[in-house]
Amino acid sequence: MHHPAEPPTVPEPAAALVAPDPRRESRAHSGPHAAAIERAAARVEEGLRLTPEEGLLLHDHADLGTLGRLADLVRWRLHPRPVVTYVVDRNLNPTNVCVTDCGFCAFYRRPKHEEAYVLPRETIHAKMDELRALGGRQVLMQGGHHPYLKSAWWCELLADLAARYPEINLHALSAPEIDHLARLEKRPVEDVIADLAAAGLGSVPGAGAEMLVERVRRIIAPKKTSTDRWLDVHRKVHAAGLRSSATMMFGHVETGAERIEHLERLRALQDETGGFTAFACWTLQPDGVPEQHLYPERATPGTYLRVQALSRIYLDNFENVQTSYVTQGLKMAQITLRFGCNDFGGTMMEENVVSAAGCFHLSPLAAIEQQIVRAGLVPRQRNSWYGIVDARHDEARDGPRGPLSRAEGATHRAAPAHATHATPRAEVRA
Ligand code: SF4
Repeated sequence: MHHPAEPPTVPEPAAALVAPDPRRESRAHSGPHAAAIERAAARVEEGLRLTPEEGLLLHDHADLGTLGRLADLVRWRLHPRPVVTYVVDRNLNPTNVCVTDCGFCAFYRRPKHEEAYVLPRETIHAKMDELRALGGRQVLMQGGHHPYLKSAWWCELLADLAARYPEINLHALSAPEIDHLARLEKRPVEDVIADLAAAGLGSVPGAGAEMLVERVRRIIAPKKTSTDRWLDVHRKVHAAGLRSSATMMFGHVETGAERIEHLERLRALQDETGGFTAFACWTLQPDGVPEQHLYPERATPGTYLRVQALSRIYLDNFENVQTSYVTQGLKMAQITLRFGCNDFGGTMMEENVVSAAGCFHLSPLAAIEQQIVRAGLVPRQRNSWYGIVDARHDEARDGPRGPLSRAEGATHRAAPAHATHATPRAEVRA
């Protein structure tokens, strides 16, 4: 018998936030783009979808307050309850061996490097035991692109963990890792996905997207899975009945228009499949990465907030948007709860990738809940499919629990949005 994680005893807010009334908001804008910004903002208020041109206009010219207001509006439209979710999970990196040499990555080691490793199974079990003891619901398991570990190795590992830890979802293998296996074995990617799913893969993380624009990929990760392949792997993951998430790493060599292009590619695939559960974005952490000279400037907190908010506005067919407290810190994460984010991501008992780049903001559960409560919102634990698994769940206030299993998650997909319209204002997906 496995028990869910014991929620921390952080008192809930005395009076939780309610959805803002957009008609009461200030409309003070000035400058040469004021009228166009007003028109784009009005479309968002009406529940209409932004075009790429409108997205770029807001990206380049809207003030931070307007972006935050619109993102908050979209957040409350999709989630009319004052709930912020998170999942009790851990990172587990079975190997750091990689032959893809991304210049922004401080985590990987070449195969013969003295710090290269493949974790022994006992070590993996010990980490899973720790997660189980904390009531964990998900393990985020990713590694490098190892030149000799094929899908049979991963399938055996997944099957072993699925049998030993049936209550913990295996959220594992990013699209580039799956693509790497298919290339290594010279077989169709859908066959690899089918084998992994049969072995116990429960859902697929959105890592490895970075910027889904070929010009950018050629600079920052020339050996990595292309934009089209990354999207196609997710398409095939969804076709196999699994859900996945989507990400964006920005603040390096990309332009504003390329950020919009990235969001547009994700939105189009979500229209097609409805298979993404969530979107998360963060800024490049450049300290100590192999090609640090390519990234002389870090994205500012203001840029992070602007892009975070714009993502929520633009991705109208994504139900959930995660904050990134691991890269941005708890205080910034709290602010993003009013810039479109409705989810705190995973509690991550261990994180080796961004921490290798000198950025490490892991926090205990109580600290995460405190940030949520002090923002006037209600923390609730969830599973990988965004179903609430929290003992404190109150259906009248928190809404339906949502999917509680991989099979339910697969059937709970958002209906693909119409090509030109976002979710109508009156339609609410709780
Ligand atoms: S980001 Fe992934 S694929 Fe790229 S070098 Fe690091 S481990 Fe390898």
